[in-house]
Amino acid sequence: MSEADCIFCKIAAGEIDAEVVHDEDDVLAFEDINGKAPVHLLVIPRQHVANLEEIGGLPDAVVKRLFEVASAVAENAGIAESGYAVRVNNGPDARQEVFHLHMHVMGGRKLGMP
Ligand code: 5GP
Ligand code: ZN
Repeated sequence: MSEADCIFCKIAAGEIDAEVVHDEDDVLAFEDINGKAPVHLLVIPRQHVANLEEIGGLPDAVVKRLFEVASAVAENAGIAESGYAVRVNNGPDARQEVFHLHMHVMGGRKLGMP
């Protein structure tokens, strides 16, 4: 279920502190430690999967729940109406740094691509 050296597994286990904004059985959301927007949250499955190539390891209901929680935390943060981006950095060209699948939820200002 977890990887010994995975920082997000440690956050999910409560071994490393984070500003948790949503906590449920299979999905957790917390503030990004180095926020790049006025609202910058991370939504993770508690179960360790490294990236989208491993998403088959998650139950379908959890994959759906990740998106529902992204929407819920955006609503709670007050950015549902103004809009927000949901982003997965996957692999080297996307500069993925943490190899525990996570969705960035960013908003509170006009965002650009990429
Ligand atoms: P990515 O892997 O999608 O490129 O980015 C990982 C994100 O996790 C970064 O935005 C980074 O600021 C965030 N991050 C890395 N380590 C920690 C941590 O220990 N706590 C929290 N809350 N966020 C972290
Ligand atoms: Zn992990």
